[in-house]
Amino acid sequence: RRNIAVMTSGGDAPGMNANVRAVVRAAIFRGCKAYAVMEGYEGLVRGGPEYIKEMTWHDVKGYLSEGGTKIGTARCMAFKERKGRLQGCKHLIEAGIDALIVCGGDGSLTGADLFRSEWPSLIDELRKNGDISEEKYQKHKHLNICGTVGLIDNDMATTDATIGAYSSLDRICKAIDYIDATANSHSRAFVVEVMGRHCGWLALMAGIATSADYILIPEKPSSSQDWQDQMCKIVSKHRAKGKRKSIVIVAEGAITSDLQPISANNVKDVLVDRLGLDTRVTTLGHVQRGGNAVAYDRFLATLQGVEAVKAVLDCTPDTPSPLIAIDENKLVRKPLVEAVKITKSVATAIENKDFDKAMSLRDSE
Ligand code: ATP
Repeated sequence: RRNIAVMTSGGDAPGMNANVRAVVRAAIFRGCKAYAVMEGYEGLVRGGPEYIKEMTWHDVKGYLSEGGTKIGTARCMAFKERKGRLQGCKHLIEAGIDALIVCGGDGSLTGADLFRSEWPSLIDELRKNGDISEEKYQKHKHLNICGTVGLIDNDMATTDATIGAYSSLDRICKAIDYIDATANSHSRAFVVEVMGRHCGWLALMAGIATSADYILIPEKPSSSQDWQDQMCKIVSKHRAKGKRKSIVIVAEGAITSDLQPISANNVKDVLVDRLGLDTRVTTLGHVQRGGNAVAYDRFLATLQGVEAVKAVLDCTPDTPSPLIAIDENKLVRKPLVEAVKITKSVATAIENKDFDKAMSLRDSE
């Protein structure tokens, strides 16, 4: 009988609760005990029954649709140090956990992969210090780890969709639908800034789904002059055809080809100065993370949670830690370390202005 723990880590995303629910219930269904690590890696570092809690079938009642994460999440600096991970190792062993499923972004999954690779040396140290008995040492020689990606930005390599991305997209589209009404009434332009870090997925998809006039994303930078000219030309053309509203979507990571950030206010100034449009800025902020998970995220999180439980039960000490991905509509296990490596390389390539490399890395996934 295995003891499987689940945690949510990094930024919250709608669907994380559905993932926790699926892990807990799939674990119990397969005759295992299920646990939740509260407050992300902070809960591992602190340990004890308050932070590593056994979960029953009924404990996750109502989790399927709810946004946020009911078991908490945190940015935990202590876990980035070996000392913190040593504490985490000790606390997991004390709780009798032999497999851990982490739902989070690339930072959380980097931490998970590091934890698993360090595990043998961590337990050796605990045994040497007399912190764990020989019996516990023998029983916990290996920790199986599996990742699921809970993240609204949809910027994790090797998976087509991340848990939370479609809920966030839905929120953005609804907000722009509301903005449309007022923009039309006053014949105004609106510049809407959306989240996404280095990734323009949310901005691009929202732009298509709401028929925005212009979209600025990090993956397609151009010189200041070029994007301004192009945007003004398109917006003027639409206005000349009788359109009363103009919507421009700016991804938070949008940049020029010489790496200067493009803010929503920059865009507003251009629309005011060059086209004389009455222009307002709306920064959607955290509403993009809030609210219930849409059906797709509930479904993705549920299937991935069930698959994650199967994966940790299948893993041997030699199996690389898996990431549960969705690839062309099929659930697949990918090497976690590889996914994290490609994601980081894309971000670094964009930071270094090497856009061709960033695109070819994305295409190669
Ligand atoms: P989001 O993309 O929503 O920000 P994330 O998972 O990338 O999610 P991070 O803040 O980067 O969020 O990471 C969450 C936590 O994971 C950190 O607070 C830390 O505890 C752990 N973590 C991140 N990177 C590492 C690392 N290199 N080594 C060990 N632990 C890490």
